[in-house]
Amino acid sequence: MTASRSGRRVMTTSFLALGAAIVAVAGSAAGPAAVSRAAEAGHARTALAAGVLPPKQAVAVGTGGAVASDDVQATRAGIGVLRRGGNAVDAAVAVAAMLGVTDPFVAGIGGGGFLVYYDARTRHVYTIDGRETAPGTAGPGLFIDPATGKPLPFPTAVTSGLSVGVPGTLMTWERALRSFGTIGLADALRPAEHVASRGFPVDAVFREQVRENAFRFDQFSSTSALFLPGGRLPAVGSIFRNPDLAATYAEIGRDGVADLYGGPLGAEVVNTVHNLPLAPGATLVPRPGLMRLSDLAAYRAPLRAPTHVRYQGLDVYSMAPPSSGGITVGESLNILSNFRLRDMTQVQALHHYLEAIRLAFADRNRYIGDPAFVDVPTKRLLSKSFGRQRACLINPHKALTSPVPPGDPYSGSGGCVPAGSAEAGQPSDGASTNNFVVSDRWGDVVCYTNTIEELGGSGIVVPGRGFLLNNELTDFDFAPLQPGVPDPNLPAAGKRPRSSMAPTIVLRDRRPFLAVGSPGGASIITTVLQILLNRLDFGMTLPQAIAAPRASQRNSPVTQAEPAFIALPVTAGLKALGQRFAIVDTSPLNPSIIISPDIGAANGLEFLGRHRVLAAAEPVRRGGGDAAVVEPERR
Ligand code: GLU
Repeated sequence: MTASRSGRRVMTTSFLALGAAIVAVAGSAAGPAAVSRAAEAGHARTALAAGVLPPKQAVAVGTGGAVASDDVQATRAGIGVLRRGGNAVDAAVAVAAMLGVTDPFVAGIGGGGFLVYYDARTRHVYTIDGRETAPGTAGPGLFIDPATGKPLPFPTAVTSGLSVGVPGTLMTWERALRSFGTIGLADALRPAEHVASRGFPVDAVFREQVRENAFRFDQFSSTSALFLPGGRLPAVGSIFRNPDLAATYAEIGRDGVADLYGGPLGAEVVNTVHNLPLAPGATLVPRPGLMRLSDLAAYRAPLRAPTHVRYQGLDVYSMAPPSSGGITVGESLNILSNFRLRDMTQVQALHHYLEAIRLAFADRNRYIGDPAFVDVPTKRLLSKSFGRQRACLINPHKALTSPVPPGDPYSGSGGCVPAGSAEAGQPSDGASTNNFVVSDRWGDVVCYTNTIEELGGSGIVVPGRGFLLNNELTDFDFAPLQPGVPDPNLPAAGKRPRSSMAPTIVLRDRRPFLAVGSPGGASIITTVLQILLNRLDFGMTLPQAIAAPRASQRNSPVTQAEPAFIALPVTAGLKALGQRFAIVDTSPLNPSIIISPDIGAANGLEFLGRHRVLAAAEPVRRGGGDAAVVEPERR
């Protein structure tokens, strides 16, 4: 065995041990694995009647279809649809609708997202772009304070009507069901409608998410009435009901999505962003928004071609612009395919991971924006030759100094190209969003990342409607990142802000092998990449790959890392190469609010052959997710 091979062994072992430890903790909370999911469903009904949720289960293996999501009720809603004969798309809409009820600070019909779908019949990957758009009257100065001529402070922009983009989630559901589903929207919404009206027990994560937002939720009468009744945080174990949202879902089921896209619900959204429902005694003076009913009526959720790269003989499909997720993950994989990570020491392998993503982020910031407004060189950025050109900048002995400049994808050169001047990326890093995955008995797969941007979005609940509005427009650059250099991500009328969401499906021989995605703002990209490398290069199982500690380098001098990553023995070696790490544990909206330093509660599926699927939910981060299959295997 060579030195480098033994180095890899060490890495695999220590990473495996760590992943296993985390999975074991989650497993103990999940109860005996032998309990069949069917029996558990009965148990769950009794538990729910008593106001207690069934325990979460991080891993499930079996056949007939699978779901891994952040939430027990969402996973159960999806499994229920699959059991009743629905396909993966039907189940995905039911899961997303349920998350809008049970995980309301993270996603819902006030937001947007991207759905990636593998169709087993045609063996094609399709994507739906449900990204929010800027209103028709928005311009490049959307977030410039007219009084000072300077960009608004980020927290001021977030908690405002200005940040609210035209929501895309509901149109995504409609588009998905019409194009690929078998049930109607009303049927897909029904399980969520029931839970919204009957209520569900508040858990520690729900309460914590209100705590982190308490100050700004308190500013809006509609938001405080829903989430801070009596001025208090919801108690863990108390039943949270959202009859307004139940009624809204019922209305949409009856009247269709036109209710929002030009109809009465849309008129209420427009009224809300213009006449903010400020609480008596509110101390903030949030700016009103620009959205008009015509913006809602004009909204579309188009099908787009996915991004595609080959890595280790596999086909990796993900989300194209306006998300930067697919290109940036894909470019990083192309850079890394110039090296043999599996033969490297763990220090060298992780150093190469950090350097590849550092370089890819420089290109992301320079070239990617809404393709309706910007000529994004997607093919060139994803070419093997550009990957080689960027790869030769990696020095195995020394970390690059960020911000590194972008490369030139137009040069066509195969060698190292001296780059222009550097521009720093914005440290845009939301803590919200969710990604879930669904498969069905026919082999169709959905990987869907959806969000209202920040945890709690804009903080504004539409009065009487029970859902929060997004602040997605703060994903635009508020001002050019570097004077004189074109910025592809400035606001414009009808433009979609650049996203980082990267719902990803990996095929082997044109059949599904992996599906994975994550929340986490710009760290979504690094999380998805790290999980893929953990699984494909570092010898981990999918649950271990999801559980393993994360580091997120985004072309900044210091790499954001989880405490568990910094505690790894390998970190000393990385520091010796010039890599620097820091933990981020304060709210981007208020540095005095301490939040969890976790990066990315991801969920994934692995297809094991012979119709067997492994569903892997995040075991610990953000309270852990829940994985289930239609026909569990006895273990
Ligand atoms: N708005 C972010 C994006 O589209 C996602 C927010 C988050 O994950 O917290 O990239």
